[in-house]
Parts: sequence; structure tokens; C-alpha cells
Amino acid sequence: MKIYGIFGFPLKHTLSPAMHEAAFANLGIEAGYLPFELDRAGFRRVARQLAKSLLAGFNLTVPYKEAILPYLDKVAKEAAMIGAVNTVCRKGRKFWGYNTDWEGFALALREARFRARGKSVLLLGAGGAARACVYALGQGGARRIVLMNRHQANARKMSRHFQGLFRGIRFEVFPMRKFFLTQALRDSDLVVNATSVGLKREDRLGLTSGMLRRRRPFVFDLIYNPPETGLLKAARKAGCRTLNGLSMLVYQGARAFEIWTGRKAPLNLMRRSLKRTLG
Ligand code: NDP
Repeated sequence: MKIYGIFGFPLKHTLSPAMHEAAFANLGIEAGYLPFELDRAGFRRVARQLAKSLLAGFNLTVPYKEAILPYLDKVAKEAAMIGAVNTVCRKGRKFWGYNTDWEGFALALREARFRARGKSVLLLGAGGAARACVYALGQGGARRIVLMNRHQANARKMSRHFQGLFRGIRFEVFPMRKFFLTQALRDSDLVVNATSVGLKREDRLGLTSGMLRRRRPFVFDLIYNPPETGLLKAARKAGCRTLNGLSMLVYQGARAFEIWTGRKAPLNLMRRSLKRTLG
């Protein structure tokens, strides 16, 4: 029996165990997937002793996607460029790190029939998920990316990093305030929320349906619970096409499953199990 899992804090609401266990059972793979809620000291202890553990692979979520890097033997090119690892696979006594969030984001956009090529994007956030989105948008040939974040310094750092990687994209950074949001929306084909604002129903990002109505961009909120955040509701009212984070979650999980098992992931079953768990 192989053991997989997820490291994070807090982890109470993770949907990954249900999704992966359904996939293992469906393909007759003898494996389990466990949540490991670890504080920072606990995470360091486990990370130092990975080779002694029984883990065949694991996922990482907030706040450990960057913290895992020094403990890995090898990091895939994309994960190194993004600067975050969300999937680790054991190879004997070695541990290799991957980033499947960017593929999850790219595949979710593709499924929604949104093509990034030549498009202008307003991206809110500068954490690990935002970096995966920028990488995917860069690979997809976006023309311009406007970054806004609560702490502007984080957005500036991210902009400098990716401008070096994607020279053909125009990166701009503005404060996350109404005036700049309104300006940026004038020329945005896609709006992405990669902040954690929206996880609570009362959370507001400051983007109203009035502001979105003018150009009606495609609006993608990476949050999947609640399924319709304040932003997605405003976007729907404005007549925009919208997408929540569920399909990204399925696709990033499916890629992780394939890295671990070498088998094709049962995508529809994984999606159904997530929907069932979400109720
Ligand atoms: P991080 O902790 O790395 O980043 C959090 C981001 O949210 C930062 O930009 C931070 O800004 C911002 N933020 C946090 N609190 C506030 C606040 N009160 N007001 C304004 N901005 C705030 O998390 P991740 O990047 O990993 O995740 C971000 C979101 O994306 C989460 O909601 C997560 O659930 C979702 N996600 C979804 C996935 C999917 O598969 N659908 C995959 C990965 C993530 P600052 O830099 O100023 O602190």
C-alpha cells in the first residue's frame, strides 16, 4: 500500500484526499492519501526526514509551496521558474518537485475556451498561485499583464522576475485601489483573482459589476469554495463569462496523480468526487 498526502496549515477543508482516493480506487491502485496539518516546526521536522518516511509522494499547499524547495533533490524546470512546488514524487531515496498549478490554470482556461494569446490580463495577487498563473499566461502568449496586490512590493518583485523570463509581455504594477482598478479594466480581456480574498462570503475585492460592465472581461476566480465569490457574482451581474477554481483544482490534481502513478488520471471521476464532497 502506497501512502500519499498533503502538507499545509490549516488543512481542515482540503478536498484533495477525497479526489485522489476516488482515483486510486477507480484504477485499482492500492494507495491512500492523508492530510498532514503541520505547523512550521512540524513541517521542518518532516521535511528533514523525508527519506526515512513511507511517503511515495505528496502535495503542498499554503504556506509550504516555497518552504519545501531546500529539501528537494531535484526541481522541474517550470517549478523552478515559478519558484513554488505543489507536487513531490519519490524516486527511491530522492524527492523531485513539480508545479502542476500552472498546468491546472492553463487547462481550465482552455476548457473554458479562453485563449491567452495577445490578450491583456488584470491579475490580482502575488503569492504562489499568482506566480503559477503568470507562468501559464506567459506560455500562452499574453500581451500585457497588470499586477495588483495588497502589498505592492510583492507584485513588483514578481513583475521583475517574470519580465526577465517573458520579454514579450508588458508587465505593469499598480496599487490595488478603485481608480487603478477602473483604469486597468478599460483594457482587460481577462481578470484573475489569485488572492485569498473571497474565501469568506463577506470578503470584497473592490471590483463592482458597474466597473466590469464596460468591457465585460472573462473573470476567473481561483477560489472554488464558495463556488460563487463576491467577485464572480458581480461579474455574472455585469454579463461577464465566469469561472471558479474547481476545474483548476481537478486538473492540477490529475497532473499530480499522473506524475505519481504514470497512469492516466480519471478526470471526470475526480471532478465528480470533488463536487460530491463540496455538496
Ligand atoms: P499565498 O498565501 O501564496 O498568497 C495569498 C495572496 O492573497 C497574496 O497575494 C496576498 O497578498 C493576498 N491576500 C491575502 N489576504 C489578503 C487580504 N486580506 N486582502 C488583500 N489581499 C490578500 O496563497 P496562494 O497564492 O497559494 O493562494 C491564493 C488563492 O488561490 C487561495 O484562495 C487559494 O485557495 C487559491 N488557489 C486555488 C487553486 C485551485 O486549484 N483552484 C490552486 C492554488 C491556490 P500579500 O502579498 O499582500 O500578502
